[in-house]
This record gives sequence, structure tokens and C-alpha cells, in this order.
Amino acid sequence: MKLGAISDVHANLEALTAVLNFFRQEGVDQVISLGDVVGYGPDPEACIELLQQAQAKVVAGNHDWGTLGKTPISHFNHLAVAALKWTQKRLKPEHLLFLSSLPLTMNLNSLHLVHASPSAPQNWEYIFTIEEAFSELRACPFEICLVGHTHRPLIVEKPPIGPVRTIPTPAFSLQPDARYLINIGSVGQPRDGDPRACCALIDLKEKRASFHRIPYDILTTQKKMFTFGLPRPLIERLELGI
Ligand code: ZN
Repeated sequence: MKLGAISDVHANLEALTAVLNFFRQEGVDQVISLGDVVGYGPDPEACIELLQQAQAKVVAGNHDWGTLGKTPISHFNHLAVAALKWTQKRLKPEHLLFLSSLPLTMNLNSLHLVHASPSAPQNWEYIFTIEEAFSELRACPFEICLVGHTHRPLIVEKPPIGPVRTIPTPAFSLQPDARYLINIGSVGQPRDGDPRACCALIDLKEKRASFHRIPYDILTTQKKMFTFGLPRPLIERLELGI
């Protein structure tokens, strides 16, 4: 089974469309989304509908829960709050129903899917360092844990013998008996200095995974955000990938 993995779409329709087109070209069997479908961006309803049409497996992120009021607004910075309030007004009951149906975690074959951290999914903690990744790996009951949340791709491998280590993107083999924590990066608001949409292909049969950066029409997304009065720093960061 060939999986197309995405995270942190953040209501960026142009970026999501470009990634799903890429997945179609690559013959992806199943799309999986690691949360934060909404928040920040100008097209929350269209992004929800596209993921529904793609029959994606989706877990909840902190912005999805923030939109529903399940995570308190005090958890977010003022820019995120402005975008969340705009998103709440924009979404129809059916979109809110979809967001409220999303589980915090999901297991799929040998994969564990969670937006932030496997040890405490509802706390929305960030995994930045190799030490944090290692302790989270021990909390994960599956060989491969896929996360998002930081908007930065990261691959951490714990071989059966030897120390935990990071593996550089873009492509790598999944070693037998090794355990992995893989951060899928962000489709709609990358923060690793590369503004292109980030996604990953995971081939469980071939035991291979690869990261890909997909260019999209950033200017169109920015124009919509400007028209809707979304905060300027959220608009500007898209072209910088920060
Ligand atoms: Zn996010």
C-alpha cells in the first residue's frame, strides 16, 4: 500500500490541491492527514471537502480543536486566535461536524498517527529535539509514529542496536526492527525555510519513504487572505516558509 502523508494543511487550498495532484500522479492508495486541516488560511471549508472527497484518514490537530472550542483560545497566540475566530464564523455545521468527528489518534497497519505527541496527544506538545523524539518513540506502541504540529519535517530512527539518530530527507529505507518517529512537515504553512508544500510518500510494501516539496500558487492564497482581512504576518510568512 502506497500512502500519501500530509499534515498542517491550515486551510491552504492551493497547496493542498497541488499535493493531492502529486499524490494522484504517484498512484497513492490512501491519503493520511496528521491534523490542523483548518486555521491560519483562507479556505477551511474547501480543504475539509477536498479531504473528504479523497477519503483521507484524518486525525485532529490543535487548530481543529481550537475551532471547535475543545482547546481553549488561551492556548494560541494572538495571530492564531484572529484566524480561528474568522474560521469559526466561516464554517457551516457540516464542516464543524467533520472536525468534531476526528479522532486524536489512529492506527493504520504498522503506523500510529497523532498530530502532536503519542505520550499525551491532547496536550499539543512539540517534538523538536532528538531527545524529545526518543522519549516519545518509547511511548508509541507501533513501529512507525507519524506526527505533524511543528511544521518542520523530521525523521528520527531508533535501530534495534545503537543510538537513536536523525535521518536526512528526502528518501530513506525503513529498516526491519527499527522504530521511527516521522514529522511530515506542513502543506499549508511550512516553517523550515522552504515555502513549497511538504508531503511524504510511504510505501509499506517496499519499506521506503520519501519527502517531497511541491510548488504552489502562493500569491493566490495570499490575495485571498488579504481580502478576508486575515493577519498580515500570516500572509507574509507563506512566501518565506517561516
Ligand atoms: Zn499547525
